[in-house]
Amino acid sequence: MSTPSESPATRMSTAVDGVEVLGALSPSRAGDFLSCPLLYRFRTVDKLSEPFSPDAVRGTVVHKVLEDLFDLPAADRTPGRAQAMLEPAWERLVAEDPGLEEMFPADGEGAQVADWLTSCRSVLERYFTLEDPRRLEPAERELYVETLLDSRLLLRGFVDRIDVAPDGAIRVVDYKTGRAPHEMFEAKALFQMKFYALVIWRTRGVVPAMLQLVYLGNGEILRYVPDERDLLATERKVEAIWHAIRRAQESGDWQPSPGRLCEWCAHRAICPAWGGTPPPLPVREVESDLSADESVD
Ligand code: SF4
Repeated sequence: MSTPSESPATRMSTAVDGVEVLGALSPSRAGDFLSCPLLYRFRTVDKLSEPFSPDAVRGTVVHKVLEDLFDLPAADRTPGRAQAMLEPAWERLVAEDPGLEEMFPADGEGAQVADWLTSCRSVLERYFTLEDPRRLEPAERELYVETLLDSRLLLRGFVDRIDVAPDGAIRVVDYKTGRAPHEMFEAKALFQMKFYALVIWRTRGVVPAMLQLVYLGNGEILRYVPDERDLLATERKVEAIWHAIRRAQESGDWQPSPGRLCEWCAHRAICPAWGGTPPPLPVREVESDLSADESVD
């Protein structure tokens, strides 16, 4: 089971670098609340654990390989080297958390792990059809970013990769191991990227020139050129989400929002939309939080 991560910001008005903040929000948790306020509550307020999922862990392993690939000299960043890094990356993850192996039933474990590793290899292979890492020198990988808004709401998250061109232009890159969304859902996918762009703009004073989502599930790249108006609108949206979270915290009213997400939700058994009963709310609710799988889809 994956257990919820502890955060430095677990109470209202947590001091961060000597500044009192009202709360902290990451794109993942903001996305949870937008999709289903009750899911947000289960993950962030109740901090309920969730079973590991092969899809999510595939994302973790592939992200790790793509992160480490850039430690190699440029000429060595080949498909073969990336493939050779895959199994050791998985073994290191299992060594850190043996519970990961529970994803695969004990009876057919060997075959299931082998199939799953094959699926990871396909995803990695697809990466090389989209980019040539021998021609890239990222400025940052798995970068933790944060900024405090005037409202004292702390925004934070992990950016997969930042490329900086010789003229200083910034490209924010995020890898997704799933498939690119239908056009109708692109805005939702871009929210996370605009969130990061806002944080980078606020901390570096430069609006990123390009936001790039690399979908390794089907080999598509979604690109977006943000401007200041976009990022100001994102800031207003993030503030509005935060106010809605605060209202739910104060009222204790976390509404379920049943939809397609329920298919993957680990908490259906205790969800009223599925005939379940949520546990009593913890005595002291905590603020929104940053999850350890921030950059992993
Ligand atoms: S089962 Fe659906 S409605 Fe219930 S908490 Fe999960 S996502 Fe929300």
